[in-house]
Amino acid sequence: MIAIIGAGPAGIALGTALDRKNTTYTIFEQDRVGSTWRSVPRDLKVLSPWWTNVLTARDLLRQSPLSKVPSETYLRHLERTAARLKGKVVEWTKVTGLHRLPDGQWELYTNGLVHGPFRAVVVATGYFSNPSRPSPDFESDGSLVVMHAAEIRTYDSLASLRKGDLPVIVVGRRVTAGQTILALNDRNIPAALSIRSSIQFRRHGVLAWLREMAYYVWEEIEAALNPGLRRNSYPVMEGGRNRKLVEAGTVALLPPISRIHVGTVEFADGTSKKAAAVVLATGYALSLALDGFDPHLDAGGAPETDRFEVTSMPGVFLLGVDNLHDHRSRYLRGIRLDAKRLARRLIQLSGDASMQP
Ligand SMILES: Cc1cc2nc3c(=O)[nH]c(=O)nc-3n(C[C@H](O)[C@H](O)[C@H](O)COP(=O)(O)OP(=O)(O)OC[C@H]3O[C@@H](n4cnc5c(N)ncnc54)[C@H](O)[C@@H]3O)c2cc1C
Repeated sequence: MIAIIGAGPAGIALGTALDRKNTTYTIFEQDRVGSTWRSVPRDLKVLSPWWTNVLTARDLLRQSPLSKVPSETYLRHLERTAARLKGKVVEWTKVTGLHRLPDGQWELYTNGLVHGPFRAVVVATGYFSNPSRPSPDFESDGSLVVMHAAEIRTYDSLASLRKGDLPVIVVGRRVTAGQTILALNDRNIPAALSIRSSIQFRRHGVLAWLREMAYYVWEEIEAALNPGLRRNSYPVMEGGRNRKLVEAGTVALLPPISRIHVGTVEFADGTSKKAAAVVLATGYALSLALDGFDPHLDAGGAPETDRFEVTSMPGVFLLGVDNLHDHRSRYLRGIRLDAKRLARRLIQLSGDASMQP
């Protein structure tokens, strides 16, 4: 029997792959299926085309394969795929810890209950439950609203940050910072960007679109030629309107924040500015807060793994983690491939009746 922690795309894709191998599993989800996709603004568009994101071939033609759908459409896909799973999906059940039994199997803890034993545990808890603060961080006396972009449930809620002509300062320079700037601009709320290093914009226009579509095909070929290719894969800010707003000075570029004091934002270069609020678009860190989960970390601070298995914790596997198998492993197109690889590995490792139905 296999335990999967998290019913996001990773947990659902692994369930689908294990179903094909007639293997039993239970997915534990702290919230509802696809909870990350429920918590983002409904009209937020995914970054990559449908054909690269879809978890099952049967949903491929539900949308135009080249379209970038709103997050709500992707959530419906996750719900449909989860509803077809043969394994057990237990919602509203947060896993708080895990423990290795003398026979090498694992048990899981949830709200005072013990589950198991499990031959293998797959941690597919993603990044979204663990928003990152800026680095280096800054102090605040609480005189201004400081929120993380993860707290934005609808873009209309940004209207509550408006304070006359004062800008909302968005900290960050990647995709989420760009999306937040556009949402503020759409609502005529002045905005500025606080950045640590220069912004790179994604190319925009018809030619850029063609290049991007060709890229995903090339990426497949490249991955086949260099299996396990790892590299930095963080997407840069969208070009187009974001670029125009920055280049026209409508969105000012500011240095990193050093302190917030009496409604004023102070910057690392000694300057300061009155502001309406601060939105942190500073990303996420891997969400691994489980008692008993104590892996050896590599030089970059990530758990050491060997073919998805945490090296210091035999029987515990990761899925949906940056550069786990290759540079696509934290993205949907990587997650769906890694799920198949991991399912094969779990079946190979089982080699006994305990993982079989
Ligand atoms: C709005 C948005 C758009 C994105 N667009 C794209 C895109 O276009 N293309 C792309 O490739 N990638 C995209 N990504 C990035 C990535 O693919 C997604 O974040 C994807 O959801 C990752 O899947 P996951 O299952 O690893 O994590 P998640 O979707 O975050 O799922 C993890 C699940 O684990 C649950 N969980 C966490 N801790 C526990 C616990 N202790 N016990 C039980 N359950 C727990 C959470 O509630 C959650 O449901 C996007 C991300 C977001 C947020």
